[in-house]
Amino acid sequence: MQIFLDDRMVDESEAMVSVYDHGFLYGDGIYETMRAYDGVVFRIDEHLERLERSASLIRLKTPGRKYIAGAVLQTLQCNHLRDAYIRVTLSRGKGPIGLDPALCRRPTLVVIAEPFHPYPGKLYEDGVFMVISSVIRNHVRAINPMIKSLNFLNNILAKAEAKDRGAYEAIMLNADGHVTEGTVCNIFFVIDDILCTPSVGAGILDGITRDIVINLAGVLGLTVREGLFSPRDIFGASEVFFTNTTAEVMPVSQIDDTVYHVGSITGRLRAVYRDEVEKYVRAKRSNDVL
Ligand code: PLP
Repeated sequence: MQIFLDDRMVDESEAMVSVYDHGFLYGDGIYETMRAYDGVVFRIDEHLERLERSASLIRLKTPGRKYIAGAVLQTLQCNHLRDAYIRVTLSRGKGPIGLDPALCRRPTLVVIAEPFHPYPGKLYEDGVFMVISSVIRNHVRAINPMIKSLNFLNNILAKAEAKDRGAYEAIMLNADGHVTEGTVCNIFFVIDDILCTPSVGAGILDGITRDIVINLAGVLGLTVREGLFSPRDIFGASEVFFTNTTAEVMPVSQIDDTVYHVGSITGRLRAVYRDEVEKYVRAKRSNDVL
């Protein structure tokens, strides 16, 4: 594959970052994951906006949205990709050993794009198994989960524990015992026909898919409640699903010992999310033609 590195396309075999890069030394940097459908990067503006926000929360100056958008499109084109997984990484850059961000003069920008491999259909039909992790989500005043940070050990430890327990994904609680999110996704559940999801105040990444699903639920006439929830609330739910850019809307069949059916609200939201993607792709296409 061809990789965008700093200011140009290079072959994967030559896409090297220094061992003195503070992204490598300290996990000092941020990233975004995007998905392209038929050559159109879905909600690219929102992803670039969030990248800027993450950057500002770690006091990192970015090359700007326009530049990064250009790098993303160039990476897709160079690799002749239409349905793709895209990863944008921006690290503090190369600098002497030491924590001071001022040691690094220029951030390192990397854009990787790969063919998108759809999740197995069976996962959407049957749902996935999740566990409540013993690993607590980062405290908002430690590493705010709103920062899409390269420092991902919090999530990696929860994921490893989930794997040990035979689960697909983990749900992390915050230090007060409230439900936050999965290691790479946001959580939704249905109680008495009300769509519930942890609020940003619980300490989560405000997912772009989450935001779309909340809006679509409103369009469908569903009541949405964002708030603080305990594991007991989620165990009492009739349906559970998770959301993220790559999986979209994924049903959950079990959390710890509690089993759920793949319900009709999940199915409807999954379908309208797909429609939303198609509408977006069509609109971008017709803009390009005009
Ligand atoms: N929460 C975490 C911790 C994530 O890493 C992600 C995505 O990778 C999400 C939530 C979902 O965000 P989005 O819908 O923007 O992909």
